Amino acid sequence: MTRKVSIFGSTGSIGQNTVDLIARKPEDYDVVALTGGRNISDLAQQAQALNAKVAVTAHDECYQDLKDALAGTEIKVASGAEAIVAAAMEPIDWGMSAIIGYAGLAPGIEVLKQGSTLALANKETLVAAGPLVMDLTAKHNACLLPVDSEHSAIFQALVGEDISAVEKITITASGGPFRTWSASEMASATLEQALAHPTWEMGQRISIDSASMFNKAMEVLETKAFFDVEMDQIDVLVHPQSLVHAMVSFKDGAVMAHMGMSDMRHAIGYALNWPSRLDLPVARLDLARVGTLTFEAPDETRFPALRLAREVAQMGGLMGAAFNGAKEAALDLFMARKIGFCDMAERVELAITKISAESSLTSATVNLENVAEMDQLARRLVKQ
Ligand code: NAD
Ligand code: MG
Repeated sequence: MTRKVSIFGSTGSIGQNTVDLIARKPEDYDVVALTGGRNISDLAQQAQALNAKVAVTAHDECYQDLKDALAGTEIKVASGAEAIVAAAMEPIDWGMSAIIGYAGLAPGIEVLKQGSTLALANKETLVAAGPLVMDLTAKHNACLLPVDSEHSAIFQALVGEDISAVEKITITASGGPFRTWSASEMASATLEQALAHPTWEMGQRISIDSASMFNKAMEVLETKAFFDVEMDQIDVLVHPQSLVHAMVSFKDGAVMAHMGMSDMRHAIGYALNWPSRLDLPVARLDLARVGTLTFEAPDETRFPALRLAREVAQMGGLMGAAFNGAKEAALDLFMARKIGFCDMAERVELAITKISAESSLTSATVNLENVAEMDQLARRLVKQ
């Protein structure tokens, strides 16, 4: 039986890997919507190759190019954030949430409201609106599957287990390109240096977040929201080889570690085929060749993002939305070369401190409207 699927953010790094897996078995899928940004030629080519019903670009000014590129086909074309949300309302069995940033939240919510399966790569969804998204998933009897490699690893280590038997969850971090740099070297790190991730090939924004460990900080909050464990049960361990993705320690002392090559098609394929495992076109782990796996504690002085994540979790409520919005705004400034690498964490911390001390939003209900308001407030404070 074919399954109806949509991919939100199909032209990105996760999106392209998802398209790759689906294109290998076209007879199994009926592709409904593909959405992208400014890369119109890739989006049009994907839509034709997968025979999608709808192709949407996030940008109105790209509408005509997409229309022209798909002229003579039956594929419907649309543009803008609202059109992406409308595409997410088209009935599907499975959706991939692979838009980068806060913009991924709204379409993901529509898929959950359908009671369908949402494969979640967009970690911002759970960082900004964890309680809301988990409630909607339960309310609509939807299925939320993690695609972030660490969370997919935890999810797999927990198959057949009871969460109450879990003592600790450890997510690993490569340590990024600045793992061995001094604080003063990091302060003058350039955009190009921050983009040079040692082990994973990813989109630009998440690569820089990996260098600052904001990515890991987001993943700690994502772990808390998805698996509903206490903050002191979540550990981060630097593991430069990126072969062990996460570990679950149980109360009998056993530790289940999930391993595999650094290829996102592992986690995407697991979410695509769950609950069964299918053959995946990924390289196999050869431990004899690897020889040595190493682990070290993260340095929270050089990488304050991890400490900030703990503080944000402690505050709870809408502070996750504040953290995410502040982090995205600080990243925008660094990518525009307006602030230095270490200024990102400094600006995020200032914004969080100001919001927690002064804003009435901190105690507001976690609904979409308040999340959006908090997101905007945090961005404004960082850009001041
Ligand atoms: P990317 O930058 O490579 O691709 C992002 C996609 O989103 C593109 O299709 C782009 O056109 C689209 N997009 C960008 N801005 C948009 C907007 N405002 N509205 C609508 N669409 C927009 O990103 P990526 O590296 O594939 O990451 C996607 C998500 O997956 C992120 O949340 C990231 O944290 C998460 N993730 C990525 C990886 C990875 O290996 N790349 C691993 C784990 C989790
Ligand atoms: Mg990850």
